[in-house]
Amino acid sequence: MSKGLCLHGSFPSSAEARRPTRDRRSRAAITLEPLPVLHQYYDALFRAHGEQRWWPARTPFEVIVGAILVQNTTWVNAARAIAHLRSAKLLTPAALAKVPVFRLARLIRPSGYFRQKARKLKAFVEFLQQEHRDSLKAMFATPTAELREQLLRVHGIGPETADSILLYAGNHPVFVIDAYTRRILTRHGLSQGKESYEELRGLFEKSLPLDAQLFNEYHALIVHTGKHHCQARAASCSDCALRQFLPTPPEASA
Ligand code: SF4
Repeated sequence: MSKGLCLHGSFPSSAEARRPTRDRRSRAAITLEPLPVLHQYYDALFRAHGEQRWWPARTPFEVIVGAILVQNTTWVNAARAIAHLRSAKLLTPAALAKVPVFRLARLIRPSGYFRQKARKLKAFVEFLQQEHRDSLKAMFATPTAELREQLLRVHGIGPETADSILLYAGNHPVFVIDAYTRRILTRHGLSQGKESYEELRGLFEKSLPLDAQLFNEYHALIVHTGKHHCQARAASCSDCALRQFLPTPPEASA
């Protein structure tokens, strides 16, 4: 383990990490109380990796399309599907509304689940047309909580997709939670791994200033860390910017 590779199993469980304060902090307290240390996590990540320049898209509508296409696949596959849509001049709400669903599905095939995703894209442009007269500007002028509720009612848009759209296409200050966020919080003893999406989103939003630019960078930095250091099967802690925050630095990563 010369690179400090340490198996997830060698970490203290979150319960172990929290044992000294077991009776002081209930599960509800863990998720509802702000965690000021999350500021320090951000500072360490930003110092180490700098600006991530998310989201990799040319327009807000392209962000929305990408947020749907990246579901259950990698960004590389989603980007290939987006490139096909761009070549076919379909990266506008009006064009997507007109294209037959079977042609749309064929074009986005590289993203996987292409038939379902074609229906999801159609559902979004239909929503945009009916609720906001085809205007993204009008849609994003809607108050954050109200727009989030609307998006969550659209077929195929769950919390992570809705929040990605709100933050990266609309500059609304909502924190995006993903599997990387859950993994890092759990490995650091800051969550138990069973918290709901909303509990974790609330945790970040209560712990940090409600600042879209901050949330934009923070989520991108978490994704960078999850991809390059904190992988599901093993964590490479020795060269990770968050190593200093581990509850008990694992011997294997020394
Ligand atoms: S975030 Fe970094 S330091 Fe923390 S467990 Fe993952 S790899 Fe290790």
